[in-house]
Parts: sequence; C-alpha cells; structure tokens
Amino acid sequence: MKLVTVGTVAFDNIETPFGRADKVVGGAATYISLTASYFLEKQGIVSVVGEDFPTTMLETMRKKGIDQAGLEVLKGKESFFWSGRYHYDMNTRDTLETRLNVLLDLDPKLNEEYRSAEYVMLGNLDPVVQAKVLDQVESPALVVMDTMNFWMDSAMEKLKEVIKRVDILTINDSEARQLSGEHSLVKAAHVIMEMGPKHLVVKKGEHGALLFNKNRVFFAPALPLDEVVDPTGAGDTFAGGFIGYLARSGDHSFNNMKRAIIVGSAMASFCCEKFGVERMLELKQEEIDLRIQQFVDLVDFDIKLVEG
Ligand code: AMP
Repeated sequence: MKLVTVGTVAFDNIETPFGRADKVVGGAATYISLTASYFLEKQGIVSVVGEDFPTTMLETMRKKGIDQAGLEVLKGKESFFWSGRYHYDMNTRDTLETRLNVLLDLDPKLNEEYRSAEYVMLGNLDPVVQAKVLDQVESPALVVMDTMNFWMDSAMEKLKEVIKRVDILTINDSEARQLSGEHSLVKAAHVIMEMGPKHLVVKKGEHGALLFNKNRVFFAPALPLDEVVDPTGAGDTFAGGFIGYLARSGDHSFNNMKRAIIVGSAMASFCCEKFGVERMLELKQEEIDLRIQQFVDLVDFDIKLVEG
C-alpha cells in the first residue's frame, strides 16, 4: 500500500458568520484520503465509525480507491462528532463540542498490506492511537503527522512522544506557539524541529503556509478566494495534497516539498468553496492544474536589484 492514513471519519456541525451546516460528513482522514485520491490510485485508511455513518459515503470513497480494510464500523455506536463556530475573519474558530464516541474504542490492528505502507499520514487523532499505527508499520519512507490544540491541551506528553518519531509535522501558527512556548514562528520552528521532525509546516489559514527545515524556509500564499464558505478541513486537505503529491513523485527533497506545499495549498483552496467535503468529491484534473497555475502566477514577479 502506497499510503495509509489514520484519522477521524466524522460528522461535523459548522457555523460561519454567513451560514451553517449540520451533521455533514467530515473528519481528518476523510478530507486527507479524498484529497490524496487525486494523486494515488489506491490507499488505505485506519479509522472507526458508528452505525450512523452513511454507507453511500463509504462506497463513494471506495470507488475513489480508498481501501477500508482498516476502517471499523461499530454496531449500535455513534460516529465521532465535532462542532465549531468561525469568527468573522474565518481564520479563527471555537470548538463548541467534541464527542469522541466510537473513537474511544479505536485500537487499530493493521493487516500485512497496511504494515508495508511506504507513506504514513498520522491525521489529527489521539496521539496514543497515532503511536499504535506507527508501531505497526514496518519501514515507511516518510511519516507526516498533523495534530491540533485539543490534543496539546489533553495529552501533551503522549503527543511529544509521537512527534519524536515523525519526519514532518504540520500544525497551525497558534499550535506551533503552544507546542514550542515561543512567539516567533522562526524560533518556534527550531524548537519543534529539536523535538524530532526534520521538517515543519506551519499553516496560517488565509495567510498561507511556511515550510521549515534546519537551514531553509519557504513560504506559500493561500489563494485569495472571492468567497470562503467553510474552511473546515482545509488543514487536512492541505495535508492530503502534500503527502499525495510526495507519494506519487517519490521525491522528498526540499525543492519537491516546496511543490507539495503549493499543491496542498491549491487543494485546500477548493475545500473552502463549499461546506464539508462536498467540493473534494467532484474535482476535475483540469481544475486542479488551473488552480496550481494560479498559484504560480500569484507569486510570479520580476525584480532588478539596484546596483550600488
Ligand atoms: P481542520 O479544519 O483541517 O482542522 O479539520 C477539521 C476536521 O477535523 C473536522 O472535520 C473534524 O471532524 C475533525 N476534528 C475536529 N476536532 C478533532 C479532534 N480533536 N481530533 C480529531 N479530529 C478532529
């Protein structure tokens, strides 16, 4: 299996200053795998849902090459549920409710095919479960991890143990500050890379994303959109595009990671155009290519330095 993703497959209630959607399909693994499906023919997910999760969505995901041998469906139980409310700038949000439900029962057992995964995406989830997946994969070429403040607040020590073992960590700017105790993102990045990962991606919502390694830094803008309907899942969609692109190309150089950041940002821009995962179900290759070109145009400029 080229890529295995662990993360939530969920229901979300979303409120923005301009609209709301109730009980829409969401979850980190859902966004990641749907996005990665535009780059990979086959991948696997490790997660758990309740009996309430729509089988039609699981079927749609299967048709997109998302294998579900690692997805448990628990009879008589409810799926993970999250609800959030966005502020006026849509870059910040409050979590109103997190119901772990079936997540409390997730004890992943990976089959042979999943154990041999070349790429592992540890989507936002209990770090104990992320560690259990890492324990079972044999020799992955690349491990990318995403997490959020919820787990920093509730399981910081366990989280740090997993961070030690990954190649790339993706978090947002406030999470980078919380994790490192540093306000400057440059200092925060260096503190976090000392914890284990060789690379750090700091997501800054509508202000783009930064990629750090020990010696270099790269910045990608976010595409200015006419209308942001719902930013939920943009971070996961970014991660899905990032790892999907790296897995397809097999090139983990810093220069290729820069391309992967642009691809991730382009995919995330689609995600914001509709509520939930809807937009990520219907993309055409031409739209993706055009969007990536828009990024290239957005930052293309010519400059002559004044000699003196
Ligand atoms: P993002 O907007 O990229 O941070 O991702 C939002 C998605 O993450 C939603 O679809 C939620 O279902 C899911 N989510 C929210 N809180 C958590 C959590 N504590 N653990 C795992 N997944 C979560």
